[in-house]
Amino acid sequence: MCETNTMQVEWRNTVSTPSQQRTEDELRRDLCTTARRLYRLGYAPATSGNLSVRLDERTLLVTPTGASKYLLRRADIVVVDLEGHQIEGARNATSELGMHLAFYRRREDVNAVIHAHPPIATAFACAGRALDEILCQEAAMTLGPVPLAPYATTGTDEVADSLGPFIPAYDAVLLANHGAVTCGTTLFDAFCKMETLEHVAQIRLATWQLGSWNPIEEDRERLLRRARERYLQNSV
Ligand SMILES: [Zn+2]
Repeated sequence: MCETNTMQVEWRNTVSTPSQQRTEDELRRDLCTTARRLYRLGYAPATSGNLSVRLDERTLLVTPTGASKYLLRRADIVVVDLEGHQIEGARNATSELGMHLAFYRRREDVNAVIHAHPPIATAFACAGRALDEILCQEAAMTLGPVPLAPYATTGTDEVADSLGPFIPAYDAVLLANHGAVTCGTTLFDAFCKMETLEHVAQIRLATWQLGSWNPIEEDRERLLRRARERYLQNSV
């Protein structure tokens, strides 16, 4: 499992807090679009998964509990504050709100959080395996190693507690026997990390089937981190 140390803080991919510059209506639309993408990819079957995005300094837009991510409408979205109080919305906020709040409270650079169950990454989480080896250069540039948070009962405070040690240093975390969570500067950024995480899991599984795998060596990893920093600076 990954350790949270200062070196790996470099793997955070949210170097600044660009203004979202999106209206509430646009953010609601972004939530519905991203939710449908997750559903179509098979990352959020039935009514599973949940998404959130910062509306302003004090409030978030979050998906409601028990909603299909394919059928989600803008009017279904709920407004909550950073204490978890519901401010607006006809439906109740996701039962995993605590998982989302745990990121926003600890990371000012985070503007969006996505929780989903991408099948291969979730299989790693169910097998008790982190995805902490860097195998692909592209994944190293955009995601970094992904630790495995200890088992926690879904919908309880245990989830935020189990994630807590990993949140300062990582943008993607596997949840034991559950799924995955990613964060980003935007919903699209958090979605790309979820998609990359599932891709990395597929590649890792295929290397097992092939019978060998060659993690990128440490000095090469360092060069990739430098290239990543340049990439992030240029993309702000
Ligand atoms: Zn879940």
